[in-house]
Amino acid sequence: MNDFIFQNPVKLIFGKESISKLPKELSAFGDRILVVYGGGSIKRNGLYDELMELLNKENKKVFELGGVEPNPRLSTAIKGAEMCKENNIDFILAVGGGSVLDCTKLIATAAKYDGDPWDFVSKKASPSDAIPFGTILTMAATGSEMNAGSVITNEETEEKIGWGSPFSFPKFSILDPTYTLSLPRDQTVYGIVDMMSHIFEQYFHNATNTPLLDELCEGALRAIMAAGEELVDDLQNYDLRETILLSGTWGLNGFLGMGNAGGDWGSHEIEHAISAVYDIPHAGGLAILFPNWMRHTMKLNPSRFARMATNVFGVDPEGKSVEVIAEEGINELRSFWSKIGAPETLGDFDIDESKIDVMVAKASANGPVGRFGKLSKEEVQSILEASL
Ligand code: NAP
Ligand code: FE
Repeated sequence: MNDFIFQNPVKLIFGKESISKLPKELSAFGDRILVVYGGGSIKRNGLYDELMELLNKENKKVFELGGVEPNPRLSTAIKGAEMCKENNIDFILAVGGGSVLDCTKLIATAAKYDGDPWDFVSKKASPSDAIPFGTILTMAATGSEMNAGSVITNEETEEKIGWGSPFSFPKFSILDPTYTLSLPRDQTVYGIVDMMSHIFEQYFHNATNTPLLDELCEGALRAIMAAGEELVDDLQNYDLRETILLSGTWGLNGFLGMGNAGGDWGSHEIEHAISAVYDIPHAGGLAILFPNWMRHTMKLNPSRFARMATNVFGVDPEGKSVEVIAEEGINELRSFWSKIGAPETLGDFDIDESKIDVMVAKASANGPVGRFGKLSKEEVQSILEASL
């Protein structure tokens, strides 16, 4: 294993009606609260009304920032940070999916900074303080509820970049599977693809002697696939929602990255380049890219891919070469994602070859892409071309 230091300070409050614990959690902070949310799903499913009633009962002074976009934009985070400064906000409550949470992380840190908030995202500066914030998660996918990561789109420069800091961890996250019941089928599929991708990113690493991590990744992938396959045809099933909700958190709360230097993350970098240019759903891009990334990088360590094939997808290794087993595993992944309704090609989003060079340049802006794969520009180009 690689040496590591692990710390995750997020208090996870999980279960039916866990919102009842919110007043106790908020009692540690001041009364001026900014509630951040997305395009209106929380108004349609009743969470907004429930929350406002609760906050009013607690005599909180509530400010609101709605309309956070999927693929949250820098301009929205800047607006939120200005609201915090103007209104002396004590605490921020992010209510929604990963986009709302990620946007809140930049709002919270930018509110304590006099420079351009993009400095944090572009790593020109690091936060040294933040307004404390908590989350009420409504979509199982990113793990943002229990990590410090945030992905922000600069709509002017068409850049989409991930960043994080010790100041961008939520103080607490409330996870009630009930709030995810209203998630439509397509977003449910995207969530499943994203959390599986996070695990693959961490499964493909160059560390040695990682038996516990490898087994945890494989077990998590099997559990997600078993529940996910049923869930997409039974969207109101609480037990399946519960399993998938916790799986999203586990996929990216740092536990699966202990001792393997965090993993690869090349597919995420290439996907960010796609959604920076075309504003497509993050996991839509991953569903297209990841099997092609696997086909391309398989040669680096075929036995790793063969292990995935047998332990995750149940490929029978009898009488087959390592390469054939590995290929069968990758094909099984492609089939599973296609079966639950995830996109297969960039053409599914009407993306053609015209801006491939732009995406290659964005993905490769900081040098080789990924840590397991370490892909050159030409390799990124070939993965994107295979994805058309
Ligand atoms: P999202 O962008 O937060 O939400 C996608 C859509 O689902 C929105 O239209 C949202 O509607 C809707 N939605 C959410 N909850 C719902 C519910 N309970 N019922 C009905 N509709 C609901 O999706 P996400 O996949 O969670 O987040 C994606 C973003 O996170 C991307 O920008 C991605 O790059 C980033 N990301 C972050 C991390 C990280 O570690 N921080 C990791 C991976 C990806 P409303 O807007 O109306 O609520
Ligand atoms: Fe992701």
